[in-house]
Amino acid sequence: MENRAEKRRIVLVPVTAQGHVTPMMQLGEALQLKGFSITVAQRQFKQISSSLQHVPGFDFVTILESLPQSESKKVGPAEILMKLNKTSEASFKECISQLLLQQGNDIACIIYDKLMYFCEAAAKEFNLPSVIFSSSSATIQVCYSVLSKLNAEKFLTDMKDPEMQDKVLEGLHPLRYRDLPTSGFGPLETLLEMCREVVNTRTASAIIINTANCLESSSLSRLQQELEISVYPLDPLHITASLPGPSLLQEDMSCVGWLNKQKPRSVIYISLGSKAHMETKELLEMAWGLANSNQPFLWVFRPGSILGSNGIESLPEEISKMVSERGYIVKWAPQIEVLGHPAVGGFWSHCGWNSILESISEGVPMICRPFQGEQKLNAMYVESVWRIGIQVGGEVERGGVERDVKRLMMDEEGADMRERALDLKEKLKASVRSGGSSYNASTSCIIRIIRMNT
Ligand code: UDP
Repeated sequence: MENRAEKRRIVLVPVTAQGHVTPMMQLGEALQLKGFSITVAQRQFKQISSSLQHVPGFDFVTILESLPQSESKKVGPAEILMKLNKTSEASFKECISQLLLQQGNDIACIIYDKLMYFCEAAAKEFNLPSVIFSSSSATIQVCYSVLSKLNAEKFLTDMKDPEMQDKVLEGLHPLRYRDLPTSGFGPLETLLEMCREVVNTRTASAIIINTANCLESSSLSRLQQELEISVYPLDPLHITASLPGPSLLQEDMSCVGWLNKQKPRSVIYISLGSKAHMETKELLEMAWGLANSNQPFLWVFRPGSILGSNGIESLPEEISKMVSERGYIVKWAPQIEVLGHPAVGGFWSHCGWNSILESISEGVPMICRPFQGEQKLNAMYVESVWRIGIQVGGEVERGGVERDVKRLMMDEEGADMRERALDLKEKLKASVRSGGSSYNASTSCIIRIIRMNT
């Protein structure tokens, strides 16, 4: 197989945000190991672009887009995304045309993040095969499909009826209509329009999803039934990757030394991922709750993640003193290493999909504090489907934080969650071993890409 892939180039088009870029670069690495050359076509985007350039052996080209900065401040994320897709199309065609001239027509395939659907126009124009990549769950993909078929006005009226709110989505128990990820994108009508664009597979040949059968078998079979193209669940990509993905911020490795001094499974690790923000009030309640629980904690205070505060230094003195006495603070952690450390017994997470996969891969149970729609759905899976965590709903207050931390870290209930998380960890590991479901999907996917142009 390796010989046939030699000198064939794959163009990857990620969304330049941490949670999207990491799994796509890991996919790139897996394809490179099979003999493909990798070119990453990326939009110009702050720090992540420069950290991407350090991925060894990949080539990089830039997609210029003409969306003025002022535009992106005026509208919601769904509208920005659709505008970006419009303004990037011509530049991406130009990129592909240049690549084809330089490399003598050897592009095997374009693999693009599902949100970068502008790529399909270039694939069609140059008659190149294309594959969609989804860095979020298969269930989110199914929800986008459900949303794409809704009428905004009717949906808003239906959602006033409690019976309709609680109606379970067909084949997706326990998901109800009220759980559909509609928050955080701007007006509903624009979100539905975005979903219609994102679920439209156009001329793509397949979709790769960063998930595994053992996690989402019913969503995967529903997708396979609905779509007319092949669905390949390839997770966990980070288990097979030899390098950590590119990092938005410099990882502070000193926390590993601190973890080395803690008792096994005693530490709760806290991180909100790369984008979520927290109010200062919530942070104070969390800090007191953690202190009262008496569990040591490792807390990622990403710069800018606390609204109205410059970080731990600007908090009231008694809080920052207490936090530094009982816990360890970093601006950015080597998360996969932290979750795999024997001292870590629980993960307080915003429930980004990568964080969930990384936690499950290490058998670490979770406390879920989701912020927006997709994360809420992920949290529901953690709590109610896999039963490996606790969801914090409503306002965060210190008594609740203390109780939840104790439930997870000290009670029998938490021990059961850990056992189930460890069981899932084994299933994930088995899925990437020879003959496992992700291994088989990856083999079929690569054979498919090789055959696309031969
Ligand atoms: N991450 C990290 N160090 C940190 C916090 C997060 O390396 O201190 C990584 C984490 O391992 C994950 C990614 O950032 O791969 C966050 O992606 P996720 O999908 O969980 O959330 P998002 O940032 O997209 O909201």
